Amino acid sequence: MTRLDELLAYEVVEGLTEGQFTAEDYVTTILKRIEKVEPKVHSFITLDTDGALSSAKIIDKKLKEKEAIGQLAGVIVGIKDNISTQGIRTTCASKILENYVPTYDATVIKSLKESGAILLGKLNLDEFGMGSTTEYSRYQPTRNPWNLDCVPGGSSGGSGAAVAAGECTIALGSDTGGSIRCPSSFCSVIGLKPTYGRVSRYGLISYANSLEQIGPICRSVRDLVIMLNIISGKDTFDNTSMPSNPISIPKRLNKLNVGIIKELITGSDQEVTKSVYFASEKFKEIGCPCEEVSIKNLHYALPSYYTLASAEASSNLARYDNLRYGFDYSIGEYKWDTYFSNVRENFGEEVKRRILIGSYVLSSGYYGKYYLKARRLRSLLRLELLELFKKYDLLIGPTMPILPFKFGEKIDDPIKMYLVDINTVIANLAGIPAISLPIGFSNGLPIGLQLMAAPFGEQKLIDASYELEKIINIPRRPNSI
Ligand code: GLN
Repeated sequence: MTRLDELLAYEVVEGLTEGQFTAEDYVTTILKRIEKVEPKVHSFITLDTDGALSSAKIIDKKLKEKEAIGQLAGVIVGIKDNISTQGIRTTCASKILENYVPTYDATVIKSLKESGAILLGKLNLDEFGMGSTTEYSRYQPTRNPWNLDCVPGGSSGGSGAAVAAGECTIALGSDTGGSIRCPSSFCSVIGLKPTYGRVSRYGLISYANSLEQIGPICRSVRDLVIMLNIISGKDTFDNTSMPSNPISIPKRLNKLNVGIIKELITGSDQEVTKSVYFASEKFKEIGCPCEEVSIKNLHYALPSYYTLASAEASSNLARYDNLRYGFDYSIGEYKWDTYFSNVRENFGEEVKRRILIGSYVLSSGYYGKYYLKARRLRSLLRLELLELFKKYDLLIGPTMPILPFKFGEKIDDPIKMYLVDINTVIANLAGIPAISLPIGFSNGLPIGLQLMAAPFGEQKLIDASYELEKIINIPRRPNSI
């Protein structure tokens, strides 16, 4: 029998309902797995072991008494630590929120709890979601389970690594410019950034509101569909959220026209390019014609993204001023002249860089030159993509232009770090859905394929991913840990 920590989410639910094992057995197995691998991988910032065990007991009792259980009953879910969880501290991997315990659940957390999911803990990220490696976490970096010397990607690196390493069965991440897809690609798991508005952002601690979405990270397309349907929907607490049709696992695949984005191929490492061509062959095998396509305005994506994301970050982070959020000082400790420098010490270098860039591009005299221009370029790119989606059902390319790299390789040069997001920011700027699917390895390091579709075209992403997953056989668990 498959080990309990290797089961997919839907297999856990099946096993529990059929009485093959109890929720307590399964939770205990995952906790043992965590004990073994966490000292090497460091996926978690906070673990709620007691909470998980008592939730398991509740599920077991319900099963025994033949009460109805939810779609994810008993399944262990890990949560990125920028999503608010009532009673469990939510740090955003920042020192400034080290002791912050939310008094309410994010809407996605409420939905997961209603589905019976067991929340095991909070997963590591780059501080406030700013970064692509988890090296900017103010706690400690997460390591890639496939090669502990390499980064797991970011900013949802804890989520990607924990799912790959079997420390949780599924996870939630957030994606502002690639933060779900980058770690999914680097850790060989599946991650989806939904269409802007499909999933409520209420309770997601804001980095750049106009770009970000919460989304699932899983080891199978089937699990991803279950999770996506649970967290999707209109929420009165988030006015940018919208109703959407539920997604289903396809019975058979209808022909989809696929465009391979030329610019993303030529800009990538050779091993990565090879894998994308391999995937395009597989597309042909499942009856989907592929041809190369060019996106004229693609070179505007990265500068536009970093201008807008920093602008929004600078305004969002203004609340961490020690008045509204921050540290409690007793009267004796409070000193007016060190008040603001204390705030500064509690932000990491990258976060401070974004605040400075953001304030600059929003300041009078530069607003039109940078911020407004970036917004116009964003619209231009979106319009071009929407035009392309009239002809193509899917646009594909590598999720990441390079393989997972070693720690420290890019941390001293912010531009080098920003450049790795070149393929992923497109979907956030355009508000369209995008998925990263494992398609191969080079030297033991994972490679992911990115598929993008028109707004609310998640069903097409799932249709294609489900078929590809069946014919591209990717090992699911690293042997090294
Ligand atoms: N790496 C990108 C950034 O630093 C994207 C991060 C994210 O999606 N949260 O902004």
